[in-house]
Amino acid sequence: MRTLVSETIQQIGREVILQGWIQSRRDHGKIMFLDLRDRSGIVQMVATKGLGDAPAESVVEVVGLVKKRPENLVNPKIPTGMIEVEVKKLTIVSRAQPLPFPIDTDGYEIEEEIRAKYRYLDIRRPRITRNLRMRSRTVAFIREYLLARDFVEVETPILTKTTPEGARDFIVPSRLQKGKFYALPQSPQQYKQLLMVAGLERYFQIARCFRDEDPRRDRAYGEFTQLDVEMSFVTQEDILRLAEELFTKLVQELFPDKHLSASPWPRLTHKVAREKYGTDKPDLRMDKKDPDELAFAWIIDYPLFTEQSEEDFYHGSGRAKFAPSHHMFTAPHPDDIPFLDTDPTKVRGLQHDMVLNGFEVGGGSIRIHQAEIQEKVFDLIGFTGEQKVQFEHMLTAFTYGVPPHGGIAPGIDRLLMAILGEPNVREVMAFPASASGTTSVMDAPSSASGYQLRELGIVVVGKRKSKTDKFSKGS
Ligand code: ASP
Repeated sequence: MRTLVSETIQQIGREVILQGWIQSRRDHGKIMFLDLRDRSGIVQMVATKGLGDAPAESVVEVVGLVKKRPENLVNPKIPTGMIEVEVKKLTIVSRAQPLPFPIDTDGYEIEEEIRAKYRYLDIRRPRITRNLRMRSRTVAFIREYLLARDFVEVETPILTKTTPEGARDFIVPSRLQKGKFYALPQSPQQYKQLLMVAGLERYFQIARCFRDEDPRRDRAYGEFTQLDVEMSFVTQEDILRLAEELFTKLVQELFPDKHLSASPWPRLTHKVAREKYGTDKPDLRMDKKDPDELAFAWIIDYPLFTEQSEEDFYHGSGRAKFAPSHHMFTAPHPDDIPFLDTDPTKVRGLQHDMVLNGFEVGGGSIRIHQAEIQEKVFDLIGFTGEQKVQFEHMLTAFTYGVPPHGGIAPGIDRLLMAILGEPNVREVMAFPASASGTTSVMDAPSSASGYQLRELGIVVVGKRKSKTDKFSKGS
């Protein structure tokens, strides 16, 4: 039976079977020191010449005797440092060729493209392994926290209709209805609101969101993950309190080396943030050189509308003056509703943004739940009749008894990037796409075969042949 590396310290004097990777080899003439790595850690092994001939990073199975090290040879830096394993038999299960880059460094010095191509090796790097483990624990913590508070986790469709977060959609052609397209969700916004109409009252999802936007440091290309939350019969205060408690506890439990600059988190109005810091995502750390300081803050009282710009995808015609600052389902402040008819620029929205160390790590709002106000907002952002039809299901749903509701969606990648002090979100994602939109390891996007295209009724105009294009003939 296999013994894990971490269990070897309880096996002194016994023979064990270990399985894992040869992390490093040090040749001392007649004997050889080998470090063996498995998911639980590393252990030093000693082999006589001939027994230890496995190249670094090969997968091996070892039969060995666990021995206490003499006092002067104990290595306090690793948990198995008081023992070593004397190799009796070593079998190479899978031989490794030399790796394309070192994995015993933090890896920042290596070109990202090559790291992405061999991401499965890059993940062996302790820093990335640790990031993925912390990500898993973070999601587990969030899930447990919310389930214990009566939330229901619901999966919503990935093949869906355009969703209005203001970015460009990814579209997927339909085979069954030729000439029609699904859109991948920019967020589950409409579904989570519909789940409130459905009476769930408290929803969450660790949701994958898709936006065809240029990558930035805090935004990988194509997709990201957010904790999507929606609640009924709540005020903005209830939403802020839930998120603040959740993330404060999360940091305390999972990242005990980090400390919050302020608790409760400061709240700034959008106006004050802009005037005082010149940005709506201020970095409020006292000491910006301190990697362990986390400065969370809330930004509230956003204007409901901004001036519409070229990048707003809501309309395409350039007719309307306004675009939603958050999204079109955000409720106006009740005191400002009369301004919707007189001066929409004066209307504040019940929007809240969560900021951490200068990054916007989440946003949300109280939603509109009255069909007539929703229609008014559609008109103000310049929706044509046709565009309104696309969202008719929301207006229809609102005629069947809709609770007042609101929510928030903190981004998991961004939060972890900021908490772990990583320079960009790709460092906390398992297989991030590169800046040019090429995926890790698998090199998507690639061409579709002529057969696939014909079935979808698609003709590609001006298609370029690429190396990965195995099926281009006949298309
Ligand atoms: N759907 C919003 C977003 O993805 C978040 C929210 O309003 O809950 O930004």
